Amino acid sequence: MGAQESKGGSYGLMGPSSVVANMNRQAQLARQWALLHQCSLEQWKHGHGEAAGFKETTMTCSNLVFKDCSPTFCTSRQGLININKHSKGFSFRRKNKFTKMAEHFEYNHIPAQLSSIQNFHVKSVLCYRENTVVLHLVRNMNTMFGIIDISSNKFLGIFGKQMVEFFNSVLRGEITPDGLYCMIKIPGLKTGNNSFQFQLYDLKTRNIVAQITTPYDTSLFAFDPRFCSSRFAATSFVQGEDNSLSLVRTRSWEVFATNPRVDDMRPSNHPVLKDLFFSKDGYLIFAIMVTDGCNCKDRKSRRLQSVDVSVYIFNGDTSQTLHCIQYHRYTCGQHLCPVNYLPVFSQCGSRMAILLNDSETATDHIQVYKLPTPLGLQNRCRIRILQQNLSEDIEKLPLPGRLIQYLQFKPEYP
Ligand SMILES: [Zn+2]
Ligand SMILES: [Zn+2]
Repeated sequence: MGAQESKGGSYGLMGPSSVVANMNRQAQLARQWALLHQCSLEQWKHGHGEAAGFKETTMTCSNLVFKDCSPTFCTSRQGLININKHSKGFSFRRKNKFTKMAEHFEYNHIPAQLSSIQNFHVKSVLCYRENTVVLHLVRNMNTMFGIIDISSNKFLGIFGKQMVEFFNSVLRGEITPDGLYCMIKIPGLKTGNNSFQFQLYDLKTRNIVAQITTPYDTSLFAFDPRFCSSRFAATSFVQGEDNSLSLVRTRSWEVFATNPRVDDMRPSNHPVLKDLFFSKDGYLIFAIMVTDGCNCKDRKSRRLQSVDVSVYIFNGDTSQTLHCIQYHRYTCGQHLCPVNYLPVFSQCGSRMAILLNDSETATDHIQVYKLPTPLGLQNRCRIRILQQNLSEDIEKLPLPGRLIQYLQFKPEYP
């Protein structure tokens, strides 16, 4: 397994321009899953990341999850700055309640009527897609969700009001690839029942359009980016199969494929499923597992112990297991922002980069892997075009609208 191959922290003096040449030559010849490049985190930030076709160079975040960052929203990656806590707008509430993320949204996006009169406050960012952000809002014994358009800085309304206050960690939400719906997973409200509910909301009317109760509370889900809102992948969705990955049709909740084993569940690993998502092109599904428990009882001990990260990769059409990459990373899977262990993807979608540590050095290493991509001319052209052009420039290419959308990985099927 490639992740174990790195040695030491020295990668010589190779500059970003030779990275491009080297990588493009290698990527042509390499088999799928091959290691295409490695460098230190410093080199990654100073040109190697960009040269390898990655936009994301923020790979570490010292913020706490569910406080400053949420699993779907990292304030470091979004470049939010800590706003002045002593500004007037906050005087009506205890300052120590505020977190960077809540502060930013309450200050910039929440109508005064909601925060100061109804006393709702921002608990976290539940999910976002492009310019739409869904916020988790709470008040004593009440939960609801707020929709914001960050491009026009407009608060678009609330939905999903519940007569109970949820912890951040039990909720999960995702806006569908077409931007029209939001699916939320909330605990089932019947007492003595460990079940969870999936609720699908129309973001325009803000009404619930479908719901289902799932048998296990550990289920994660992700929408298939090739389909507007009609298909998603979910773990532990099927009765009697709690370590499974299912492909499901939204609204009818029909399961059309199930892989009964998401990870190897060796008891020594104590793996916890942290995230589930599709590749940009929808052909792969990634499940990220991190060893259980806390590595940061006091702040100094954070670098003493590493967590084991496993990236399991499945076929997006059949749910069949394709590959697994395992690595060590000095972080805490329970308390620190997931940015510290989640892989990132190149602009063309055919390369994955991970940040890891080995046992000999404290250096942060980056490794870039080649992902399998579907055969076919259309897809190969997309990869090539995206490797040659910046994503901002795609819209300006002299191509028909549908092709531009294809290049932007917009849904192809209803
Ligand atoms: Zn973060
Ligand atoms: Zn911890």
